[in-house]
Amino acid sequence: MKKFGWRMLRWGAALLVVLAAALVLRGLYAFRDRSPGYQLDLRLGPSSASATPKPLRVGFGRVKINPDLSDPRRPVWLAGFSQNRAATGIHDDLWAVACVLDDGDTRIGIVGLDAIGFFHDDVIAVRRACRPEWKLDYAIVCAMHNHSTPDLMGLWGPNPLRSGVDQRYRRQVISAAAQALGDATAALQPALVAFHEIPMSPDGLVADTRKPIVFDPDIRVMHFTSPTQGTTIGTIVGWANHPETPWSKNTEITADFCGFLRETLEHGFSHDGHTFARGLGGIHLYVNGAVGGLMTTHPTVTVHDPWLNQDFKEPSHDKSRAVAHRLAAGILPQLVKAGAPATNAVAISVRARTLELPVDNKLFLAASYLGLLDRGHAHWKKMRTEVALVTIGEASIACVPGEIYPEIVNGGIEHPEGADFDLAPLEVPPLRELMPGRIKFVFGLANDELGYLIPKSEWDVAPPHLYGSQGVYGEVNSCGPDSAWLLHQALGALCRDLKSTTSSP
Ligand SMILES: [Zn+2]
Repeated sequence: MKKFGWRMLRWGAALLVVLAAALVLRGLYAFRDRSPGYQLDLRLGPSSASATPKPLRVGFGRVKINPDLSDPRRPVWLAGFSQNRAATGIHDDLWAVACVLDDGDTRIGIVGLDAIGFFHDDVIAVRRACRPEWKLDYAIVCAMHNHSTPDLMGLWGPNPLRSGVDQRYRRQVISAAAQALGDATAALQPALVAFHEIPMSPDGLVADTRKPIVFDPDIRVMHFTSPTQGTTIGTIVGWANHPETPWSKNTEITADFCGFLRETLEHGFSHDGHTFARGLGGIHLYVNGAVGGLMTTHPTVTVHDPWLNQDFKEPSHDKSRAVAHRLAAGILPQLVKAGAPATNAVAISVRARTLELPVDNKLFLAASYLGLLDRGHAHWKKMRTEVALVTIGEASIACVPGEIYPEIVNGGIEHPEGADFDLAPLEVPPLRELMPGRIKFVFGLANDELGYLIPKSEWDVAPPHLYGSQGVYGEVNSCGPDSAWLLHQALGALCRDLKSTTSSP
């Protein structure tokens, strides 16, 4: 009897050791670095302000990225709201849209994906899929963050414990992004560029669902035209809003207002035999900006379609179109206005570097362990990500790898009662004050999706809560309280570096 008891104990202990080893091995596998050794520290472009750039060339390309809905045994899980939302159809096409710019010395590519988010490892995969003969010095991959597109982050499968990512679709998007860059490179042609900053009121368009109320409301546009024909080659349009207009009950795949906007800029809009706006032709690349904190065409927002003269409150595709029409009605007259200054003498500069950010969010760590969030950790609880600053003539672009709160970009960070950390705002001065140039684009979800980037002095998990509220939303989808200020510091350093080399002595 005694002997039997000892044996049982020994077996039990051995079983525990095996179990512990299996758990550790699972962890090592789940957190393994997907891109070991990947590091970037780019400094491209003229070394002084006096260098004269060669004539600009620009090309656009696009590749459809609709998922395959033909097999009922392989449901397509829609991202962005709750789990278990299977796609029932395609309302409008999803695209990878690319623009390649070449100033004779430096060639960069920008690709915008109709996707909820795209991790840094996937961005690296896109870069590795680009052919050497395309001679791209740097490629930026941005997700639009559309909330009715297939899950590419793993959080929206059939249940909370199963990823919604179809690896075949992920590979399809990676190769489509690279192909769009290849097509844009093949389409390179001499171009003039004009930069526009178009004021846009958020009223009846975007709500800010978390205090402080700060928007990034204006539209920024790069308009490329042919110097010989005067026709539009394409545009890059930057604005900031969650593309989630049809809201959580929608099960049709849609690019949301991003798709309607691209369509309207290209083809214009006619209805009932009346033409409300003429299109520009060309290919249009929309990029989302500071959408955190939280910019959204919430179901409480009534959007007035200026052309149909109709109000839309209930979430619907028509409401998405109304958002796009509001934007297009601001953009198109500005672009066709005669005498918009355009130039072909623009120099391109790039500063880009990888860095490691701490991950404190236990839910993110658990999701990584379970294989839901399929991205590597460069070191334990440290994710590799990337910041970049690009200048194109008098325009600059800050590439932010997540959903940044607009107050970090435009100013207005607070330290409200109820905040978890007793400190003054760290993310100052505002990013746009640090950036060089006249027209300052902020590309959000650029080269990564780290979730919300929240000012540390507004961080709130523990009660009492901000502004006497019952609690706030945001922290649950953030890596931690230190991501925003670390990224702000890294971007600030790139701004200073670029300003110091390109400003006149
Ligand atoms: Zn979001």
